[in-house]
Amino acid sequence: MPQLSPVLQQATPVVATRGEGMYLYDADDRRYLDFTAGVGVTNTGHCHPRVVEAVRQQAGQLIHGQYTTVMHDRLLTLTERLGEVLPAGLDALFYLNSGSEAVEAALRLARHATGRQNVIVLDGSFHGRTMGAAAMSTAGTRFRAGSGPLMPGVAVAPFPHAFALGLSEEAAVAHALRGLDHVLATVSAPEETAAIFVEPVLGEGGYVPAPPGYLAGLRERADRHGILLVLDEIQTGFGRTGRFWAHEHSAGVVPDILITAKGLASGFPLSAIAASVELMGRARPGSQGGTYGGNAVACAAALATLDVIRDEGLVANAAEQGRRLADGLRKTAAGVPAVADVRGTGLMLASEFRGPDGSPDAALARAVQQAAAERGLLLLTCGVHGNVVRMIPALVVTAEQIDEALTLWSDAVAAAVR
Ligand code: PMP
Repeated sequence: MPQLSPVLQQATPVVATRGEGMYLYDADDRRYLDFTAGVGVTNTGHCHPRVVEAVRQQAGQLIHGQYTTVMHDRLLTLTERLGEVLPAGLDALFYLNSGSEAVEAALRLARHATGRQNVIVLDGSFHGRTMGAAAMSTAGTRFRAGSGPLMPGVAVAPFPHAFALGLSEEAAVAHALRGLDHVLATVSAPEETAAIFVEPVLGEGGYVPAPPGYLAGLRERADRHGILLVLDEIQTGFGRTGRFWAHEHSAGVVPDILITAKGLASGFPLSAIAASVELMGRARPGSQGGTYGGNAVACAAALATLDVIRDEGLVANAAEQGRRLADGLRKTAAGVPAVADVRGTGLMLASEFRGPDGSPDAALARAVQQAAAERGLLLLTCGVHGNVVRMIPALVVTAEQIDEALTLWSDAVAAAVR
């Protein structure tokens, strides 16, 4: 009898049979409050009626029209509609299926556009599991170990993770930018560096928002050296952080290439890269593409997703409910020394667990996650050491559901910490 890969690591014991809004249900109709949202994907909630209806209609009309063979109208309409939410000047789009694929496409575009080979990534980065993206992922060793030889030409600069560094945010930014200058002076010369890839909120690396001034510092160095600034907004885009894009928290910073996926299509596989027409035009013909990229049903889901985000005010709701959740998490942390830090932005929030000696406590983070699941609250861990529990609910979450989650959370923390 075939089975799933024995090394598949499932974070919760749940086998879901249906989803509705903020909740998942199993075959026994047990209900779980889902604060994982398919790793930040189902931002409009599970099976939002408008997304379901758009998908149903599209599936009856056209499922697949492969864009290098036959164009289809959903892709053209989506491209037009994304113009309403993309930063000015990023008006050329290219579509793929997953985050990793979009990262690979951005990498290739950056190399073609600059004629340079190297890329700089940040300490604690995660850009995906395909071979190029894995070579660019430093949020732990598991993405790279044993997989080599990896793509050469990747240099790593520090991320301004103030808490981990034991510095103020301002000092952490200065430290990280000095580190970047050092990398450019010693490892990856500017004239060999195509791009700097950055997550505006470090995701798998522990939910660390870039502090004020950091992205502006990156933008300044990129401009000075003719290096492209690539923002991986795969997890942070589509309202997740309380702004449509996370980089909007850093006024005036616009990337050369923006990567999006996850929240784009409410659970359908769809990703995209955006750049100026001029920059995108420097990709070599035939270098971009994929059989399923920009699938018509996925595009229909994305169009409905954009409507729902706008009509239900989900970006503002993410900001408002994010503040409520952050306040609640800080209250729980106040009485529990093992919760060493609470951080994040919008509905991308996390609690970091440390042992009495201050070392990362991944076992405790896992125990809290399990205790929460037993109580009906689904959560994920993250962080370079796996000692961070993150909350990433759909953007449709209500104040009542935030409070429900906080009650379950403080119970779970109390039970696991003891
Ligand atoms: N970049 C970031 C910032 C991500 O969060 C992820 C997924 N967690 C990826 C890239 C990879 O996306 P995918 O799993 O769709 O390939």
